[in-house]
Amino acid sequence: MTLSEHYAIAHAPSPWPRGLVQVYTGDGKGKTTAALGLALRALGHGLRVHVIHFMKGDTRYGEQAILAQLPGVTVERFGLPTLCNPKNPRPEERLQAHKALEAAQNAVLGGQYHVVVLDEINVALAFGLIPVDAVMELIRQRPPAVELVLTGRKAPPELIAIADLVTEMREVKHPFQQGVLARPGIDY
Ligand code: ATP
Ligand code: MG
Repeated sequence: MTLSEHYAIAHAPSPWPRGLVQVYTGDGKGKTTAALGLALRALGHGLRVHVIHFMKGDTRYGEQAILAQLPGVTVERFGLPTLCNPKNPRPEERLQAHKALEAAQNAVLGGQYHVVVLDEINVALAFGLIPVDAVMELIRQRPPAVELVLTGRKAPPELIAIADLVTEMREVKHPFQQGVLARPGIDY
């Protein structure tokens, strides 16, 4: 992006008076896909979107490659390909989460995006990979027009308190309980 394009976005009239903070949490399916659906909708209105995936080193996700091909959206992905043990996170997992947090700070404070999605950041917080205070500070410091979407199970109470919109996905049924394993194109 050229400097003048950057300037035009940072200073363009906001489509809304104030960007809000949205949290999608809970154990039911649909948090990441809801955030990606919102990203798609925003792109349709010509808004600029940045998506940061926390704890998603696994490259199998269908959305990641295709999303980056759409005009107006950029994607960054952090994490290891292996599952994180919440009781004993590895130093590399903490490092990846801190890198993702730094990317989030740059994206939010840089003022060049209308919508910033922090996918699975709630899990990184719940596992203690990054401090809640840093995310609360980022929320407070964000430029007023930035819409922030934070996804993942176990959103901390401080985040729920400060958010403008909180949706809790509740599992009523999930095929996993019937032994149906994650399916490409549906679950990843
Ligand atoms: P999705 O990415 O499908 O929107 P999600 O973001 O709500 O799901 P996560 O908590 O991030 O779900 O879980 C990641 C993976 O677990 C995804 O493959 C998702 O489809 C699957 N999943 C989500 N909810 C459940 C559930 N209740 N039981 C089993 N698997 C689930
Ligand atoms: Mg998810």
